[in-house]
Amino acid sequence: MLIVTKPGISKEAFAALLREIEKQGYTPHVSEGEAHTLIGAIGAPPTPELMEHFRALPGVEQVIRISKPYKLASWEVHPEPSVIEFPTGKTGNGYFMVAAGPCGVESRQQILTAARYVKENGGQMLRGGAFKPRTSPYAFQGLGVEGLKLLAEAREETGLPVVTEVTSPDLVEVVAEYADVLQIGARNAQNFALLKAAGGSGKPVLLKRGMSMTLDEFLMAAEYVLSEGNPNVVLVERGIRTFEKSTRFTLDVSAVPVLKTQTHLPVWIDPSHAAGKREYVVPLALAGIAAGADGIIVETHPSPEEAKSDAAQQLNREEFTAMMERVRRLLPALDKEIAVPV
Ligand code: PEP
Ligand code: MN
Repeated sequence: MLIVTKPGISKEAFAALLREIEKQGYTPHVSEGEAHTLIGAIGAPPTPELMEHFRALPGVEQVIRISKPYKLASWEVHPEPSVIEFPTGKTGNGYFMVAAGPCGVESRQQILTAARYVKENGGQMLRGGAFKPRTSPYAFQGLGVEGLKLLAEAREETGLPVVTEVTSPDLVEVVAEYADVLQIGARNAQNFALLKAAGGSGKPVLLKRGMSMTLDEFLMAAEYVLSEGNPNVVLVERGIRTFEKSTRFTLDVSAVPVLKTQTHLPVWIDPSHAAGKREYVVPLALAGIAAGADGIIVETHPSPEEAKSDAAQQLNREEFTAMMERVRRLLPALDKEIAVPV
């Protein structure tokens, strides 16, 4: 339920209200507005009696049932757009970010080369999988902790924060030790134990949409992370499974405006996994931006033809450079900017 406090509520009444929310078995999430302060009391659906009980407490103006099944992800509990900040920029509420890098970390030379040209071209975050969730158990599984160390070295040199996938709850601790952002992949988007563990890590989470997930299910997955007390979740549309075979997945561009009506969280597009082929990546990235995305995550590899995973969809250096040029030209038309940290 949502508790709207009266303007000018005393500190004592506010503290007593928080204590009462906890006493009744709910977790309070405070959101400061201009006139009112909202408290999302998160827990089981409230009885009419309980809502009446809260209405009668000092300093309470209104008690409302939150209409959506996801609570912390909803606009009702959090009426301002979320902005997530990094040393290289921010995402949300008009601020746009580009994360880029290879599908997987393969060698020191490969990841450092990619990190350098991503940075040179204005990319603000380095991606690269160290633990790869592969359809085949015989395919390249990633370098594991060695890959995490190489990502940390690339961050050290370039200053780019790194995002890398965590594939199971028992890996959250080690991935969080090296990475700045934990990626939860499409194949794990409803791994609830993993969502909770990532939520508890204290690191921002980049959550990919599962390939057959509805947007409501996607938001509920985000709710798992948020409900662990972690407010920093980026939602990534990366293509869903349809009957169409000419692309690897079908980029659901409409997910961007739909999600934006449902949630305050930043929404990104991953054109690479949707496209599956490099020639479709840039148009899909631009389409996602035009639809209102707050960021993109794109695969690029210094020599895509030698990539150990997703070779066909990774942009080479020149293609990445050309994409960045077009992204920079498109953003002003959408009143979006890449924040340059001061
Ligand atoms: C990836 O980012 O390399 C990846 C495996 O993505 P997804 O989970 O979207 O397939
Ligand atoms: Mn990939």
